[in-house]
This record gives sequence, C-alpha cells and structure tokens, in this order.
Amino acid sequence: MKGDYEVKPIKVYAGYNVNQDVRLSSSSGAVFSLLAENVLAQNGTVYGVKMSDDCYLAEFTRVTDINGLIWLRGSKYLQAKVGNTYKQVKEDLLAGKQVLFSGTGCQVNGLKNFLGKDYDNLLCVDVICHGVPSPALWKKYAEYQEKKNGGRLKSINFRCKDDSWTDFGMKEVLAGIPQGEAKQLYISKDKDPYMQIFLRDYCLRPSCYDCVAKKMKMADLTIADFWGINDVAPEMNDGNGTSLILIRTDKGLKAFETVSNKLKLKEVAYEDGVRSNPAEYKSCRRPSQRDVFFEDMDAMEFEELEKKYASPIKVTFKSRVKRKIKNTIKSALRAIGGGQRVNDMEYGLLFVFDCQEKNQ
Ligand SMILES: Cc1cc2nc3c(=O)[nH]c(=O)nc-3n(C[C@H](O)[C@H](O)[C@H](O)COP(=O)(O)OP(=O)(O)OC[C@H]3O[C@@H](n4cnc5c(N)ncnc54)[C@H](O)[C@@H]3O)c2cc1C
Ligand code: SF4
Repeated sequence: MKGDYEVKPIKVYAGYNVNQDVRLSSSSGAVFSLLAENVLAQNGTVYGVKMSDDCYLAEFTRVTDINGLIWLRGSKYLQAKVGNTYKQVKEDLLAGKQVLFSGTGCQVNGLKNFLGKDYDNLLCVDVICHGVPSPALWKKYAEYQEKKNGGRLKSINFRCKDDSWTDFGMKEVLAGIPQGEAKQLYISKDKDPYMQIFLRDYCLRPSCYDCVAKKMKMADLTIADFWGINDVAPEMNDGNGTSLILIRTDKGLKAFETVSNKLKLKEVAYEDGVRSNPAEYKSCRRPSQRDVFFEDMDAMEFEELEKKYASPIKVTFKSRVKRKIKNTIKSALRAIGGGQRVNDMEYGLLFVFDCQEKNQ
C-alpha cells in the first residue's frame, strides 16, 4: 500500500470558491465545502470535525445533508476526538456510499490503516498540518473565558476573517450574560493567549514534533492556506482567503475537476506553493520548555500560564540576524532568475537552512 502514495503532488493550484458567503465562513478558500457538497449531491456521506455543543472539545461527525457542512467549516485548533468514526466510515463504504473523509494527515493515515485496503468510493482530504494542541489546554482556556466573561461558550471561530484572512482572530459567543443575552468577543490571534501558546508550539501532541504523516501522504488531496500568495500569484489574493490545493492521486484529480468550475484557479509549481508553508514537508521544532509547560498546565491557573507562556515576544539580536540571512538567500536566488530550477534550488537551500536551525 505504501508505494501507491507519492509525496510530491501531481498538480498544484492556488484557488478559491466563488461563493463568497461560504468562503468567508471557511478558513482559507473554502475548497473543502465544494468537495463535500459534490459527495453529498451523490447521496454520499462526509466526515469532518466540529466543536461539541458545549465547545469543550472537537470531535469527528458524520454529515449527510448540505446544511450540516456549516459545523465542519473552519479549522478547530485542537486535537479532535475520533471515537468510532473509522468504524462508521467502513460501514458506509461497505454499503456502497460515496464517502469523503477529511482530517489531518495522521488521521487519514490512521483510517487507511484501519481499512487495510483501498475503496473506490472513498475520497480522503487532509490539511497541511502545523500540529494539534492538547484538548486539555483548550478546555482550560474555554473555562477561563467563561469565568472571566460570565456565561457559557456557544460558538467559537478560530479563524474569523473580520479583520482579514491573514490577520485573523478568535470569535467567541457566550450565552447567558445576563440570562438570555449573548456576548460576542473578537480577539486577534496576536493577543489571544490560547493562539499564542499554540503558535509558539508549547502545547502540541508529542507526535507533531516528529510527524510521520509528512513523509507518508495517503490523502487524495491536501488543502491549506496559500501563505506567500503575494509572491507567487498576487492576482489570486483579494484578502478573503486563498487555498493551496495539492492533488496527490488520480482519484483526487477527478474529484477536483468535478468542482473546478466553481473555483477561481491558477496552477502553480509545487515549490512556489509550499515555500511559505513548511508544515507541508517538516515538523515544527519541539521547544525546550514543552515538558515544563505540560507540568505547569496541570498545576497552574490559566492566568498564570498566560503570563508565563503568552506574553509578547522580545525579538532577540540572534533571531534578527537569522531572519536577515534567510531573506538574503531568498532575494539572491530570486535575482538569478525565476524558472523551475531556481525554485528547486531555493527550496532546497532554505530547507537546508531550516534544518540547520532546527538542529541548533
Ligand atoms: C490543526 C490544524 C493545523 C493546520 N495547519 C496548517 C498549516 O500549518 N498550514 C496551512 O496552510 N494550513 C493549515 N491548516 C489548514 C487550514 O487552516 C484550512 O483548514 C485549510 O486550508 C482548508 O480550508 P478550507 O477553507 O478549504 O476549508 P475549511 O472549511 O476551513 O476546512 C474545514 C476542514 O478542516 C477540517 N478540520 C477542522 N478542524 C480540524 C481538526 N482539529 N482536526 C482535523 N480536521 C479538522 C474539517 O473537518 C473540515 O473538513 C491547519 C488546519 C488544522 C485543523
Ligand atoms: S502534525 Fe502530524 S502528527 Fe500532528 S496532528 Fe498534524 S498530521 Fe498529525
């Protein structure tokens, strides 16, 4: 089975859904929703991740109706509970239904290993995955927000685009303040302590620091944010979210072609697509404080964690120099020329530079 899956995709696109409402409620360009709608239109089933009613956890759910997709849209930045989802997927496949399974790379790989064989009626979509935070940290944060603001969390959008797609924030709705009223909070990702702890990599699952799914890609398609779009295809960026679409199998290509008339698209080189998105090919560095963070998480109140792990970062001289060297390599290589060979070289050199940094 392993040999059937290529790391490098067969086609790569920048794209977004032309339906603006769906796009604004999705994390990037709403490609997931189009693929899901197409499977539902064939009386199929879609598996993806929603927040629980109390917003304390993220969990897989099965959707059979287009209205249910609203719960799956948007990234939930915590590890999702799989429960008996793999078993349900198998039952649907054996009943002859078209099935779309969407999750992280390791969850897709887990499903494929559970199934033990390929099914023509299964389409797997994963995301380029930076890593997933501990669900215990999320629950601690959610309880802290409820205590601080009064009321109970009713909904949460980790990738609210009210400011813009790139400067996103957390939108949280709390109900019962006072009884019957709702309070809406918008917290920029740069100010929210949960997002800061996540983005600084303190709270990821152990496997995320050495992610096997980066090397063994079993999904038919991978979707992601097209970070760096302005350097590659600025005409594809209107600030509302653009997806990077990596098509990995013929089945993925067929599914993509079915929905491509509902997408604004531009084909790009793989190296251009992933240049600003290293999570496609490497795991993030395990911070030296990671183990202490988890000890603190058990012992401290959230306010104390916030003070210790989410205060504004001081930019050191060393990191300024590192950034300067990296940018100089980029500019020098781009000055040589623009073709595929240069892209490959730049990708390779930056990869080597990043690995050297990682080993320091
Ligand atoms: C934990 C996590 C880390 C990510 N890291 C990166 C990254 O480093 N770089 C990058 O470019 N993109 C990353 N993404 C992907 C990106 O945020 C978008 O989800 C992706 O671009 C798809 O966007 P969309 O607009 O097409 O669809 P959306 O509607 O935004 O995508 C929703 C899909 O994501 C799935 N999903 C949501 N939360 C989870 C979860 N916790 N676990 C598993 N599946 C989930 C849903 O099932 C649904 O299928 C990450 C996503 C997640 C969930
Ligand atoms: S980084 Fe890898 S191990 Fe961690 S959730 Fe993502 S795919 Fe899974």
